[in-house]
Amino acid sequence: MTEARIPIADVLLPLAVPAPYSYRIPEGMALAEGDYVEVPLGPRSYIGVVWETRETGGTNLKLRDVTLRFDAPPMTALHRKFLSWLSDYYLESLGNVLRLSLRVPAALEPERQRMAYHLGDKRPDKITPQRARVLEVARDGFPMSERELADLAGVGTSVVKALIKSGILKPVALPAHAPFQKPQLNPSTKRLNKSQEEAAASLRAIVSARQHKVVLLDGVTGSGKTEVYFEAIATALAGGAQVLLLLPEIALTPGFLARVEERFGVPAAHWHSDVRPRERERVWRGVTSGEAKIIVGARSALFLPWKNLGLIVVDEEHETAYKQSDGVPYHARDMAVLYGAIGKFPVVLSSATPSLESLVNVDRGRYASVHLADRHGRPELPEVRLIDMRAEKIASGTWLSDPLIAKVRATLDSGDQALLFLNRRGYAPLTICRACGHRMDCPLCTASLVEHRFRRILMCHHCGHQEPVPKACPKCGTEEKLTPVGPGVERLAEETQKLFPDARLAILSSDLARGQMLRDVIREVADGTHNLVIGTQLVAKGHHFPHLTFVGVVDADLALESSDPRAAERTWALLSQVAGRAGRGEKPGEALVQTYAPDHPMMRALAAGDREGFLNGEKRIRESAHLPPYGRLASLILSGNDGLETERFAKSLARLIPEAKDVEVLGPAPAPIALVRGRHRWRYLVKAGRDVDIQAYLRLWLKDVKPKGSLRLDVDVDPYNFL
Ligand code: ADP
Ligand code: ZN
Repeated sequence: MTEARIPIADVLLPLAVPAPYSYRIPEGMALAEGDYVEVPLGPRSYIGVVWETRETGGTNLKLRDVTLRFDAPPMTALHRKFLSWLSDYYLESLGNVLRLSLRVPAALEPERQRMAYHLGDKRPDKITPQRARVLEVARDGFPMSERELADLAGVGTSVVKALIKSGILKPVALPAHAPFQKPQLNPSTKRLNKSQEEAAASLRAIVSARQHKVVLLDGVTGSGKTEVYFEAIATALAGGAQVLLLLPEIALTPGFLARVEERFGVPAAHWHSDVRPRERERVWRGVTSGEAKIIVGARSALFLPWKNLGLIVVDEEHETAYKQSDGVPYHARDMAVLYGAIGKFPVVLSSATPSLESLVNVDRGRYASVHLADRHGRPELPEVRLIDMRAEKIASGTWLSDPLIAKVRATLDSGDQALLFLNRRGYAPLTICRACGHRMDCPLCTASLVEHRFRRILMCHHCGHQEPVPKACPKCGTEEKLTPVGPGVERLAEETQKLFPDARLAILSSDLARGQMLRDVIREVADGTHNLVIGTQLVAKGHHFPHLTFVGVVDADLALESSDPRAAERTWALLSQVAGRAGRGEKPGEALVQTYAPDHPMMRALAAGDREGFLNGEKRIRESAHLPPYGRLASLILSGNDGLETERFAKSLARLIPEAKDVEVLGPAPAPIALVRGRHRWRYLVKAGRDVDIQAYLRLWLKDVKPKGSLRLDVDVDPYNFL
């Protein structure tokens, strides 16, 4: 007797599940691996991806049927492999990782024609004020959707619907989505200089070879790296591949997108948190169909289900913004390299201040390196001088030293632009009562509340808690004694305004402007509308401000003391990048750095322009401490609503720590920010040798750990946050 063979699909769902679930493939449905399907689970239905198809012999299997197969291009085997590897690497459930690639379910449906409406010849018999407003809006002649008409007229959609029904608004069908245009592969209009030409030739050769290789493109700000990697992109596009250009979110400025468009003759599709749902849908479809050839995106663009990815460029590769801080804690640069490795295509990492990780990979011969020597036709990097703040006399409540003020004045007098850099949002980082010493802390976090004077609130930068600035101290009740301590950009702006009342001042800070508004301010800084700019790290990243000749760093020491092993490296990168904003136009630039630690090796190297010296010192420190990239790290964060319960849970894990060679476990200890959003936090830090399989070690340790109730265990492999 032969058993009936039943076709099965193992379907991965975007839920916190480690593996696919099995479903029966109903008769008449043809399914292949990678297909998007809808399946039932409990009372609900979910969209998932067919991970595997097989047949089974069991006859009494109680499996539910796949309900629906979407008529969309399948997720490629390569992309599925990428997700699996990522899941293994970060010890994150495969389903949670899939979720990153299933962000646009609407794109799985057939493209709908969009209906829009315009005014016909008929006029309504009865006119209400609401109807009149809709007709007023529709008179424009532009066909608009029901929703657009309703929103613009400030009425409910029912009013619009009624007008459609009575034939007063006439329907027209709009094309579903604008198609993607083919990039133009004309040669660059810019004549590359010798150094750029050599670099471009190496990149072209690497891309043409269609093999996996990682190249570090290393050159000071303004040396023309972008022009060079554009050549790599052109080569990949000419070979028919799709290209992803990754940028730290903040650098996705219109100026940059315009450059891409100028070089490749088509608007680049972009992908980041501000992109509207309809455009997301269009990009998603274009990426899966292979029609979209070049995408400029923030880290999450890696998870678009690529059809034929052939090159990833990671610009500003040292940026820690590439590390996702919540959800799946992946590092987009590292995962770009992984994708390239399994997809056998090249990855270009570009930076003026490459990460130590990448530099050491070059030392080890794992990455190729391409140098750009000079600033393209520009003056050399700005001269950097330190101001020893221990020797400066500064009135209390002010932060600018005399030499810095003099320099700003001279810059403004000569018609140039100056930038003051302070990496602190808000007005003041701390508020205390001068009567009783009470300090305004966040009720939910171990953190002080930051005053934001423009918005008249106190705000926690960890959880977003806000409260109005009180008149009286909440502890002792004394009025008018609450005092701001320390500077933020808003307070610095106040001081600056007093000193330079005629300056055209702009503040660049993420909480004062976002999205389009922020892009507008950046454009106005670039075109010289403002001549004095105060900014947080937002200004450090990739912008081109041609009128800027002077940069003053108000407090260079902010980031130096910290439990973060990369603190010196990050401060170095930030200060070099900020200083590098000066002198990108015709005139040379100059930077002054206020510091209380002028003897710190990093500060000395910065002033001497001695990058090699700094990096060599930093490598020695990391190597002797077995820190990345000479060793591996992972953090365990245990959290819960109850302090005692969380502590017990954290300590209970200590008994399970496995013995292993070359692995050291530090902790448990209360996290430096021991309370976030009312949740208590404890940490372990795992330090392992470079050759240790840290994932296997963690799996062994945690295999029987099942947090209950409000308790949670979060694993962070290659952590960048130590708070
Ligand atoms: P980086 O990416 O290294 O900071 P960019 O590629 O942005 O440098 O170049 C800095 C500026 O110099 C840009 O305005 C760019 O258009 C210009 N530039 C770079 N290379 C050339 C070139 N070969 N010819 C003309 N202008 C160039
Ligand atoms: Zn808080």
